[in-house]
Amino acid sequence: MDYRVSAPERAAFKRCRRQWDFGSAQRQNLQTVEPAPPDLNRAICDALAVYYYPGMWDWQSHIVLPLVRKAFLRTMEAVAPSPIREADIELGTDLLEQYIAWAPSLDDFGPLKIETDVEALVPDIRQPDRGLLTSDGRRVLYTERIPLLAVDASDEYWVVKHQVVPEWQELEALLLDEAAVAACWAWEQTYLGMSIAGTVHNEILRSPSDELGPLPTETRTGRPGRGGYDQNEPSGGGRSIPQLQRPERLQNRPGTGDRVERETISLLRRTRIRRSRAEIETATQQIGAELLEMLDPELALYPTPSPAHCPQCIFVAPCLAMTEGTDPTLDLASRFRAGPAVAAYEPRLGAGGSGGRNIAMPPPPPM
Ligand code: SF4
Repeated sequence: MDYRVSAPERAAFKRCRRQWDFGSAQRQNLQTVEPAPPDLNRAICDALAVYYYPGMWDWQSHIVLPLVRKAFLRTMEAVAPSPIREADIELGTDLLEQYIAWAPSLDDFGPLKIETDVEALVPDIRQPDRGLLTSDGRRVLYTERIPLLAVDASDEYWVVKHQVVPEWQELEALLLDEAAVAACWAWEQTYLGMSIAGTVHNEILRSPSDELGPLPTETRTGRPGRGGYDQNEPSGGGRSIPQLQRPERLQNRPGTGDRVERETISLLRRTRIRRSRAEIETATQQIGAELLEMLDPELALYPTPSPAHCPQCIFVAPCLAMTEGTDPTLDLASRFRAGPAVAAYEPRLGAGGSGGRNIAMPPPPPM
């Protein structure tokens, strides 16, 4: 079996090695037995997966939007009832309605694929052109689930990430978002021959929607309904033909384009960042260096306490016990259980499946 490291596991490793050691599928692999709290961000992302589902992109909004709302509620109602859940349902419903109202005035792309699992061989930075192997000869793979791959009017591909945020993120934080750059690399490695232009950071402000001004009456592209670009164009050169990047569009691409384009409308902010080859290569090398560290049997598993992430950490109690020099084994045994052998993602609508332009994608190579 290959050694798979998911994007969330990599993030945990970079955040706090002790937390990573507790929770990683490749380490102690512990999951709490307590009910999961509501995850508003996940529920909105699930709703947007339906909103941008390529197979329904050309359908009329009155058919699709009820399914979008249903997807949100399905995720929220999967967790146990609580006052927090009810409050998040109310807030999330409001955010979703704001998104539905305002996104068409921003969307200038067509959805190509949603919730797609990609995986890439991690390079061995000590030996150029070779993949990293574990000490027992297993391949080391980096895995990620991409919320949305979109294509613009110039037939350029963009990795789109949705995020509900308590406040707008600084541009520098998005420019330095290594996970987003790694997603570009992993996509290109999974779908050989495709070149990703960059990342689109789709932020939704977690805020009550008072005094938002008049609703937009036109879509960004002039296309009625949810805006964006059609899956099928009546010209005969339709967007669902196997040649995704049409020669006339390639010729008419704007030079290098701006590195960053950012727009804020209502509770939505779009930041489009063009990612260079050098940037993607740097991220690849960094993943290679981090994975080498993860595989090191002598790795020091020190904690990295921070008010930014410790309050949300499910391992606070055993971590405190270890910090105080006591044994957390009993607590771990009573409140945690072993997770699945590999980081498991629940299959979601359209993941690896049908719809719209999926038929035109080159198949991923067998891993
Ligand atoms: S409580 Fe903080 S320091 Fe301890 S494991 Fe969790 S994230 Fe790390």
